[in-house]
Amino acid sequence: MSWDADTRRGLLGVLLGLPLAAAGFGHALAGRGKVARRLSNDRLLCPENECGYIYDPAKGDPEAGITPGVRFEDLPEDWICPVCGRPHHRWL
Ligand SMILES: [Zn+2]
Repeated sequence: MSWDADTRRGLLGVLLGLPLAAAGFGHALAGRGKVARRLSNDRLLCPENECGYIYDPAKGDPEAGITPGVRFEDLPEDWICPVCGRPHHRWL
């Protein structure tokens, strides 16, 4: 089987286009990177759509073993939103 020049160019375009498409996809995901809204008293509203969870440092997150008085910035790296599971590093 032999391909003419146009077919080969087309295939090359597809091959080269894939990483670009992947990069574009990554960019689209990055564009979704909303940040938490800071409320009064240093509370933070989860940036996930319709999650609604608010981290309140005055309460902590007892179910995750977070005692009251822990600022959001001081939560452990592996803390996730107890409602939607959004990881700590994707809040701010
Ligand atoms: Zn959430």
